[in-house]
Amino acid sequence: MEVRRSIPKAGMLAILGLLGILAMPALAPALRTHPSGWSRLFYAAYRTHVRAAFAARQDFLTRDDQHFILKYTRADAAVAGAVLRQADLAYDRVTKDLDYSPPGKVVLVLYPDRASLQRSFGWSSQDQALGVYWAGVIRLLSPRVWLPTGDERQLEAAYGREGPVTHEFTHLVLDYRTDGNYPYWFTEGLAQWEEYRYTGYLWLEPQSRLDQPLYSVAELSTSFPALPNQALAYREAFLLVRMLDGEEGDGGLQRLVGLLAKGVSWDEALDEVYGMAPAGLQKRFTDYLARPGSGGED
Ligand SMILES: [Zn+2]
Repeated sequence: MEVRRSIPKAGMLAILGLLGILAMPALAPALRTHPSGWSRLFYAAYRTHVRAAFAARQDFLTRDDQHFILKYTRADAAVAGAVLRQADLAYDRVTKDLDYSPPGKVVLVLYPDRASLQRSFGWSSQDQALGVYWAGVIRLLSPRVWLPTGDERQLEAAYGREGPVTHEFTHLVLDYRTDGNYPYWFTEGLAQWEEYRYTGYLWLEPQSRLDQPLYSVAELSTSFPALPNQALAYREAFLLVRMLDGEEGDGGLQRLVGLLAKGVSWDEALDEVYGMAPAGLQKRFTDYLARPGSGGED
């Protein structure tokens, strides 16, 4: 699991199945305009439910602005404003880059300590995420826990540089725009790419060096969250998205996401924008990493 940020594996099949049975008659007309079928609609319905449940929670204090509803505890009253301001910056950047604004206000939940964030997912104490996007809600660990406190302006500046909001908000925007129609590695690559462009942050570890056998694109596509070397998987995802952003000038990534939003499959969208099948993506990635200046050299 990624040390800094992650998406937990969704264990929602049973709920989606139930929602599907209940909703089928009402949703049938809409399906004709959603080529990728039921799964996107069921997922969107589930996401709406989770978001509404968090927005209504009374065991948190609430503060909102034009884009966000922030749920926080009394312990974080002094940093709530800083978190909201940084979230607004992320909102402006990412909605512009992906040419899409999610509907309504986005729910952020600020947990006062690691234990309460981990409990909200049933995670073990080894999970060290600073932020998590899942099903329409962004959960954040309070910056008080992992940044030096004291000067409030310094804390906010550090949170802007090192915080997870741009990364998690990118996950959210892609998810709403496409209703989950993307490979796992793509959302992790895109989130890192946005974050890198605006903050310069890139997750690098000794075990993510590229002078070792790399995961194939097929491995990233079929089993990303289960790959044992997550640092390497995340780095390859970042480099793949960076490559795709450069292949067609500025508009390629946006066109790719636009097709995913229409329900076009990943393979078809890749072919339409970049003229390559999945096998071609592997070859182009290998060539890209061999090129000086690609960001693929250690
Ligand atoms: Zn992520």
